[in-house]
Amino acid sequence: MMCFLKRKYLPILRNAALMRLFGYLPTYKGYIIGATLAMIIGGGASSLIALVLGKLTDMAFYQQDTIVVYLAPIALVGISILHGGTQYLSQFLLVRVAQGVMLEIRTLMFDRILRWGDELFMKYRCAEVQAKFINEASTALTNAAGVLTIIIRDSIQIVCLLGVLFWHNWLLTLVTFIVGPVIALILKWVNRHIKRLTSQTQKTFGELIGTIQESYNGERVVKIYDGYDYEKERFRNVNERLRSLTLKAQRVYSAGTPLTQFTSMVGVSIVIVFALIQAKMGMLTVGEFTTFLAAMLLLLPPIRKLSSVNGTTAAMTAAAESLFRMIDELPEKDAGTRTLENYSGAVEFRNVSFAYPAKDKKTINNFTLSVKPGEMIALVGSSGAGKSTLINLIPRFWVPTEGEIYFDGIAQSELTLKSLRKQIGLVSQDVTIFDDTIANNIAYGCRDRVTREQIEAAADAAALTDFIKALPEGLDSPAGPNGNHLSGGQRQRVSIARAFLKNAPILLLDEATSALDTESEKHIQKSLDTLLKGRTSFVVAHRLSTIINADRIIVMRDGGIAEIGTHEELLAKGGLYNHLYTLQFSKEN
Ligand code: ADP
Repeated sequence: MMCFLKRKYLPILRNAALMRLFGYLPTYKGYIIGATLAMIIGGGASSLIALVLGKLTDMAFYQQDTIVVYLAPIALVGISILHGGTQYLSQFLLVRVAQGVMLEIRTLMFDRILRWGDELFMKYRCAEVQAKFINEASTALTNAAGVLTIIIRDSIQIVCLLGVLFWHNWLLTLVTFIVGPVIALILKWVNRHIKRLTSQTQKTFGELIGTIQESYNGERVVKIYDGYDYEKERFRNVNERLRSLTLKAQRVYSAGTPLTQFTSMVGVSIVIVFALIQAKMGMLTVGEFTTFLAAMLLLLPPIRKLSSVNGTTAAMTAAAESLFRMIDELPEKDAGTRTLENYSGAVEFRNVSFAYPAKDKKTINNFTLSVKPGEMIALVGSSGAGKSTLINLIPRFWVPTEGEIYFDGIAQSELTLKSLRKQIGLVSQDVTIFDDTIANNIAYGCRDRVTREQIEAAADAAALTDFIKALPEGLDSPAGPNGNHLSGGQRQRVSIARAFLKNAPILLLDEATSALDTESEKHIQKSLDTLLKGRTSFVVAHRLSTIINADRIIVMRDGGIAEIGTHEELLAKGGLYNHLYTLQFSKEN
């Protein structure tokens, strides 16, 4: 039996993820002590049942002691109240602890994700992360409460009942020990399978969420391209896989309990045969036999629970390991210590190269460029030339693999990310709008530092005033989930207003390629012109007007500079720009 209990506890104590999970417990020591006391009392109470029954048999039936006849049933009711009450209390206290730890872990996970670099955002699918938040966090922690209850309460019950057994008849008790190793073997088998199946199930659950998410977000593409059958099949596949994995896990899980029960019953039967032999030899009274039998039968439920706890522990371990693996991913490196004060807006690329992880080819290749404060740089070049990648290096969304970018002569790697990003405004094609009011979307990240007037001025500069005035709640109107109350043009203007309010010396602009209506385009162009004024700007340009207004145009090819100069200079050169111009822009003239 000791070996059986050791097999229960050791895997938990040896598992780093579970120990780490339990590391959160000291904060809740009051609850834990309360729950443990309740469990000790509850666990011990059940062994009293066996003793009372034994005494009842001997004293009431054989010795005709009337007091015992009346007292015994009252004692049994009292014991069951004690048993039930402590169970209620301990469960409630432990769930309170589990929910507390879950809150801490989810907060930690969210904080860590916010600090991830782009590399990790590429590594994990969004749905996988969601599954960890929803499914794995609760698998780990709700199960932890259950497991703790079983481990403490039922182990105590087992120890107390074993004590009663030993005290009454050590010889018989030894026989019970034959069953121990057999149960341990069954549990080992269950444990191994459950753990493997749980990790697979959790991964598939992430895929299921991903499939739903993609079909949901892409509903229009599904409709137009008649993707119903394709989506249905894709969903059916992953759904089916999830079902089959869950069933497999349940099969193993469910087989574990009856198998242990069966083994225990065989053990009990052997013990009863021995007990009957002893009774025949006059070594055992009927009352002692009753106590012994009651204790043995009472021993079965906690043993059964301890056997099922293995499957739960395996599921919990897999979930906790997966959670901590994600939590332990390193945040983006922020080793710089310097800050930019009174930054002029000068940017210099010195031999900058960059290759995406797991890609051999450099996307940016030995790029060198010095940009004066307030200069407007237009980036043109065929798709895949590296324009967006270059822009993403400036706020260090990606870190150059070679070379450095300097800001007022200070290397990017020496700057804190906060100070670097404070200098940069961003208006990109795919605008992010949060499910909040328009005002809060414009003042994103600086709500507590700006006045209402400043937000209104930014909205006005982004040509949003007419639109906002027409809304019943004005600036306080909700933008809707994903900003779906706003049109494409309005979303872009909100992002331009955001950049106005930030008023940073550098502006990164990825011009929209999507066709906007002429009215929106006119508004956007006008506000962008105002926004660009006086700032150092890098524009991935798609409009001829932007390109013509640029101080310098950089024609990119294979991550490097193919040509550089003003519109006229480059046209006169008759090279790549001239070619691009003839293909893309000359018709805009
Ligand atoms: P452009 O903006 O000029 O169209 P990009 O900078 O977007 O070009 O892309 C340049 C190259 O880098 C392309 O070959 C593209 O496939 C690759 N690329 C872009 N983003 C990633 C990424 N996150 N991971 C791997 N490769 C990428």
